[in-house]
Amino acid sequence: MNKPFFHCPNCKSKDITGGNIEIDVDVWQEVTCEKCGYEWNEIYLFSHAENENGNEIDKDGKILPPLDPWEEDPKYPRADWQYIVGNGDTNLGYWDWVNSCKEDSEYSPLKA
Ligand SMILES: [Zn+2]
Repeated sequence: MNKPFFHCPNCKSKDITGGNIEIDVDVWQEVTCEKCGYEWNEIYLFSHAENENGNEIDKDGKILPPLDPWEEDPKYPRADWQYIVGNGDTNLGYWDWVNSCKEDSEYSPLKA
């Protein structure tokens, strides 16, 4: 289990066990050190949002460029973007182009 603390804050042992994730006002987990018996709660904060394809999105739904810049959105193939760039119809980068397509409901992927 990936633990934010990684070790006991009391004795520094890494032999720690997390209980169930609890959700009330906060999301938190009670963690116990197996070595010294110290107990603490780890409180989790919202990290980020992803769309159905696993792309990180901002609060407006705009896709943030992935860590791997060669990924593509299956609905908007890179080949389409390259075709449009080749025609001189856009000077946007690929992910900026994907976002502009999503805002334009008229867009449908090229079939060629
Ligand atoms: Zn401990």
